[in-house]
Amino acid sequence: MGVVAGLLAALGGGVKVVDLTSPLHEGTPILRLPPPFVNTIPFSRTEISRYDDRGPAWYWNDFACGEHTGTHFDAPVHWITGRDGQDVSQVPASRLFGDACVIDVTADVELNPGYLLTTDDVRAWEAEHGPLPDNTWLLLRTGWSAYGDDPEKFLNPITPGVTVECAQWLADDPRVIGLGVETVGTDAGAAHSFEPAFPCHRYLLGANKYGLTQLRNLDQLPARGALLIAAPLPIVGGSGSPARVLALLDA
Ligand code: MN
Repeated sequence: MGVVAGLLAALGGGVKVVDLTSPLHEGTPILRLPPPFVNTIPFSRTEISRYDDRGPAWYWNDFACGEHTGTHFDAPVHWITGRDGQDVSQVPASRLFGDACVIDVTADVELNPGYLLTTDDVRAWEAEHGPLPDNTWLLLRTGWSAYGDDPEKFLNPITPGVTVECAQWLADDPRVIGLGVETVGTDAGAAHSFEPAFPCHRYLLGANKYGLTQLRNLDQLPARGALLIAAPLPIVGGSGSPARVLALLDA
């Protein structure tokens, strides 16, 4: 049996699919930048028809949102350090798959909501679970998705993230494809005042790597061994896109 045939057979029972995507709706929390910066719009929709005179047999909507709304994908061109890199349509499909390595810092975040992942945390994970594999999508489990339906709490200026040193280390490590987080962005809430500012964006996108945000259900994944699938829309020239993010794991 081929590898794909084996996987298809296992979808009947041996493989579990976990949806890591936050539902997208008008109340989905979005990033809020202070003045003078311009903000993205919230998700909105306009009904075109609903089995009525406007379209008797069909229901459909127009929708509007930013490229960085809800669970979404950051492409390298999102940041000035990646301005010559890939837009979201140019990201090779092979980079949208990876080995999901989940680092759980929920206990640290309970004590300190501004907790920052350190290189020592990653090394401790490797000591317990083995070296990061090639094609790692590093997923930072913080428990923050529990606030995903409470924008005030979700967007608290103090949110967890990654230290400057660790962001640079992840960007430099050829095994790492990207970083996924539960928060509104890959950087911590306080990262505007880090030196340098917004290190995950600066270093990872500058290294032609990627970000995934507002993930849910990371508590359903093992520390390693799940296959991550990220599916942003191939917006030509786009800086990112809302994405469906799935994980496949042994049932
Ligand atoms: Mn983004």
